[in-house]
Amino acid sequence: MNWNMTVKKQQTTINRPVKAAGIGLHSGEKVSIKIKPARAGMGICFVRRDVDPTMIIPAKVAFVVDTSFATTIGASHATIGTIEHLMAAFSGLGIDNAIVEIDGPEVPAMDGSAAPFMALLMEAGLTHLRKSRKYMKILEPVSIAHEGKSISIEPASSFSVSFDIDFAHRVISRQHYELEVNRKSFVQKVGIARTFGFLHEVEFMRSRGLALGGSLDNAVVIDEDSVLNSEGLRFSDEFVRHKILDLIGDLALLGMPLLGRVTAVKSGHAMHHSLASLLLKKPEVWKMVEVEERHGTGHGSSVFTRDKVVNY
Ligand SMILES: [Zn+2]
Repeated sequence: MNWNMTVKKQQTTINRPVKAAGIGLHSGEKVSIKIKPARAGMGICFVRRDVDPTMIIPAKVAFVVDTSFATTIGASHATIGTIEHLMAAFSGLGIDNAIVEIDGPEVPAMDGSAAPFMALLMEAGLTHLRKSRKYMKILEPVSIAHEGKSISIEPASSFSVSFDIDFAHRVISRQHYELEVNRKSFVQKVGIARTFGFLHEVEFMRSRGLALGGSLDNAVVIDEDSVLNSEGLRFSDEFVRHKILDLIGDLALLGMPLLGRVTAVKSGHAMHHSLASLLLKKPEVWKMVEVEERHGTGHGSSVFTRDKVVNY
């Protein structure tokens, strides 16, 4: 066998089913999820088992029904909210295919980051499937701007993200972060960054029936001038890192990993969804490609195990 042969990068799924339970950030309802292996070409599919008939909702741009406060997908009589952190975990770990069975209207918030999902998926392990992975390779720049917010994507040989935020609040203010997204950088730099909210907004959201499950256990909460969580922040710039996590999760709904450089300024779920929709409407600005990888270098390993989980 030639250990230096080059082969097309293969699609992946997880080795075995894994389960988790928690409460929905917005609904406040207890919900259980079971993540199962799926065949090549299936992508990430959510299944609502608690509705009759059972609903299968592909995690794709076309199924997005709401982008206020979180990203929600839906079809006919069922929706699934706050999918972005779990989607980011799939994307960041390079998992192309999986079935997510869920018994409620929202993915559990866990600790407000993708870390518990990453740990769960790493516990399941990764399997390579006998079908090559297709990437969306950007050929021409595309950008969207609206009311001081913007997002753009331009050609690049890998997937990278640059993000700027600017909040009129002394704890956050201006933050910038950028990284080339791969499994290691995702796990160590952005996957563990938690969602955040302002105390006065939490009260307003609750009056509208949102953030009912929100607490210091699943979000960084900020009052007039400080972080209320006793353990403090995981990074001094945890806020902008979480925005990158959201962006990775939202763009995962393209259903293909990206080869392009994304530059985002103050964007949120709605604008991320607009960029993804625009790309799908403009097939002339990208092409679907396969990528070759060299085997025999130690990187073609078919399984990753818990010893590669970083401490968080
Ligand atoms: Zn988020």
